[in-house]
Amino acid sequence: MKKFIELAEKYFPEEITGRVKTPCYLISENKIEENCQILDHVQKSTGAKIILALKAFAQPYGFQIIKKYLHGVCASGPVEARLGREEFGKEVHTFAPAFTERQFDEVLQYSDFIIFNSINQFNKYAKSAKLSGKQVGLRVNPGHSEVEVELYDPCAVGSRFGINPEDLKDFDISQVDGFHFHAMCEQNADVLVRVLESFEKRFGKYINKLKWVNFGGGHHITRDDYDVNLLINTINTFRKKYDNIQVYLEPGEAVVLNAGVFVTEVLDIISNGIDIAILDSSAETHMPDVLAMPYTPKIIGAEKPGVYKYTYKLGGISCLAGDFIGTYSFKNPLKIGDRLVLLDMALYSFVKNTTFNGIELPSIIYFDRNFNITYQKDFSYFDYKNRIS
Ligand SMILES: *Cc1c(COP(=O)(O)O)cnc(C)c1O
Repeated sequence: MKKFIELAEKYFPEEITGRVKTPCYLISENKIEENCQILDHVQKSTGAKIILALKAFAQPYGFQIIKKYLHGVCASGPVEARLGREEFGKEVHTFAPAFTERQFDEVLQYSDFIIFNSINQFNKYAKSAKLSGKQVGLRVNPGHSEVEVELYDPCAVGSRFGINPEDLKDFDISQVDGFHFHAMCEQNADVLVRVLESFEKRFGKYINKLKWVNFGGGHHITRDDYDVNLLINTINTFRKKYDNIQVYLEPGEAVVLNAGVFVTEVLDIISNGIDIAILDSSAETHMPDVLAMPYTPKIIGAEKPGVYKYTYKLGGISCLAGDFIGTYSFKNPLKIGDRLVLLDMALYSFVKNTTFNGIELPSIIYFDRNFNITYQKDFSYFDYKNRIS
């Protein structure tokens, strides 16, 4: 925890967090690049290709850095596929639990690889995909996962993701170019080892007939305790066993892990049995995973309640009663105008934010290694209005 905060202070010193417009998502180009270099080390040591999951981070300015290293993107439908094609270039891999007929023309237009979630969907669309020169794959259920939060467990009982071995009984596997599985969330390489073992047990007899296997996302490769060598060895062993088959990884989080913070200001301090700081931001609209997961983001200079002398509940500016970020303690009393820096906010943040309640969207700001601002996007009334009119 301490190390995490120290690192954040190094990448996001007051020199930059103190002078940006609030609220904002503040992104370090330097940290994105360092993350990509770790991912590239994995690519170079294994021959695996790594692509960015747009679901976690779909901000085109950042693609300029990421596309120097990664091989493309994974998309969840026509809209993300188009963003990938137009703003990232390189390979576009698209998967959805199901595609509508209306969507599928655009999916075809913008994707290179299309992955189907069922034999029904495969039978409906794969032929036209092949005729358009696309590669086609099947998402399979590897039958093992260790994700504890059910909201984020792609292999929970009753999951809607992926086919099971019995679904392939009467299926001609030669129609398929590859298999895809995704069973992890914020996990280390030891979990991949166990998922892969289960995947091979269930689907091993088909693997030699495929061109590629996609190991999905959820690999926390750029976290400081991640076992990169175990990942490399696991991929290399797998490739050797199956005739040098192409392996893909499609992390979202790992690409921009710790590469962004959220900077917000204290607007007021009130008291209602506990001291409450009202911020110029909102958990509900600006960092919805805080409420959905739920989790409490780390804040530079703050600790869990009771560790330091002054404890506050941090609340948002929406009218939702539960719009709280969490309860924290500080060494000094908070004052109106103080800035707070919430950590790890590049991922699953602005891709999920909303204009609910007319709360203004935070700016998105990038800075380089000399702490110069290189990109700033501000939002306005029209982003609220145009979304629904
Ligand atoms: C969400 C998702 C990813 C990315 O997951 P991260 O946890 O951000 O690495 C990759 N592939 C699929 C199919 C996903 O649904």
